[in-house]
Amino acid sequence: GLSPLAAEAAKEVSEKWRGTSAVGGTTKNYIGGEFRESKAEKWLDVNDPSTQTLLTRVPETTASEFSDAVDAASQAFQTWGKTSVMKRQRVMFDLQHLIRQHSPDIAKSIVLEQGKTFADALGDVGRGLQVVESATAITNTLLGDKLEVSADMDTFSRRLPLGVTAAITPFNFPAMIVLWSAALATVTGNTLIVKPSERDPGATMIIAELCERAGIPPGVINVVHGSAPTVNRICDDPAIKAISFVGGDKAGEHIYNRATPLGKRVQANLGAKNHCVIMPDANKNLSLNAVAGAAFGAAGQRCMALSVAIFVGAARQWIPELIDRAKALKVSGGFEENTDLGPVISPQAKAKIEHYIGTVEQEGGKILLDGRGLTVPEYPNGNFVGPTVVEATVDMSAYKNEIFGPVLTIVEAETLDDAIDIINQNKYGNGASIFTNSGSTARKFELEAEPGQIGVNVAVPVPLPMFNWSGNKGSFKGDIPFYGKSGIDFYTYRKTTTSLWPAADAVGNRASVHMPQ
Ligand code: NAD
Repeated sequence: GLSPLAAEAAKEVSEKWRGTSAVGGTTKNYIGGEFRESKAEKWLDVNDPSTQTLLTRVPETTASEFSDAVDAASQAFQTWGKTSVMKRQRVMFDLQHLIRQHSPDIAKSIVLEQGKTFADALGDVGRGLQVVESATAITNTLLGDKLEVSADMDTFSRRLPLGVTAAITPFNFPAMIVLWSAALATVTGNTLIVKPSERDPGATMIIAELCERAGIPPGVINVVHGSAPTVNRICDDPAIKAISFVGGDKAGEHIYNRATPLGKRVQANLGAKNHCVIMPDANKNLSLNAVAGAAFGAAGQRCMALSVAIFVGAARQWIPELIDRAKALKVSGGFEENTDLGPVISPQAKAKIEHYIGTVEQEGGKILLDGRGLTVPEYPNGNFVGPTVVEATVDMSAYKNEIFGPVLTIVEAETLDDAIDIINQNKYGNGASIFTNSGSTARKFELEAEPGQIGVNVAVPVPLPMFNWSGNKGSFKGDIPFYGKSGIDFYTYRKTTTSLWPAADAVGNRASVHMPQ
């Protein structure tokens, strides 16, 4: 069964929020403003990753329920797409307030289903909240362009919503990533169908209820659950104009390849392998703390987790101290006080992570700190993996694959140039960080390292939502990135009007057949 703290949270969340259950019931779909029990034949279990206790069951939404959601979203668009921007802005202000007020409940749901610590779950909600906050600026961010192009002639451009859009989200940030789309799709006048991760749907259900309370009308946001079959319906339905996807390479490439030939706009954030470079002139103490925090926080299940460290020159002497810091981190259930990292999402994820740790020795690398076989006495059935540090080369499996667990791989490089080469040869381009006290070293790294999100003495350089998410290379597919200015671009198309208002008594002699200039 659940730990006492988790049991209390499960009861509270289930009693307070209509769409979700964490006490062995079912998670509802949210269609046209109603929390509806699905008639699905297939259900997917969501288990507490600390104990394997069944929390809820998630439906594989049926074809007819899915088409109800699309119909609700299409119908709602007829009015929502024409509401004033002031009204949509006001709804975002209310949503902002409600999410802030109920963050602890969303965070509790995340700890239950996903396993991260309560403090980290509050950060997950907080980063999503910042996108809602940026959406309240819509009356400025949607301001268009206008120019008097010649005598009596004006051109101006409008940005209009696309219609029905969809978001397909991953398990690792159950609140933040849903809010990237929920805020920006709706504030720009679109309607949205969310297909949250089938492994932790609870946060989305609470957010849906808060959207309703904030005054988002029925049908503007809908939630349908399921896995690949439901995703394929989203790709194929002609009423859906755009898809935001965040998750792994396999699903992302499938969705991109299936939906774009049908004319849909797709933005897809994919996998990652984020490197950091520690220079010998760095502030040792701050750098080692930052690297350990970013490698092992959230049990390494962040798309911006640091998974590769390159200690240049004399900085190599600091590796034993990094290992000491990793050892000092406490692994336990997410509700327990002082827990630094909770369990990973599933027994399969744990097995995969342990497999990759094993390959290091088989392929001739070294395991410097081994988190396999860790037991947490209070949670004997949890999916725990302890902080792990390995030494490998770039041709080894542990380096080449996204492990998505608390495993930091150290690779060797003699110089900064060698380190940058390694980073640039990697297929991914989500993030890269450097730790140094030299401005010129930092600047060289910023300019020459290819990943799209660079940290200088910052281990997790996730841009705040006034900027856009800018992962690149193998970490992104599509043309228009998430949130920031490009978030508004993704959810709108431009229409440009040119008008001529000659004086009322103006006269013309004959028709002109030349291309006007
Ligand atoms: P996932 O790809 O397994 O699942 C993501 C979504 O795709 C889920 O909603 C899932 O139901 C759906 N899906 C899964 N397999 C599918 C298939 N075969 N066909 C159709 N749909 C499918 O990802 P995950 O395990 O939930 O999340 C972890 C991954 O997400 C990691 O690779 C991580 O790097 C990545 N991620 C990237 C970013 C980023 O911004 N680059 C952010 C968060 C997570």
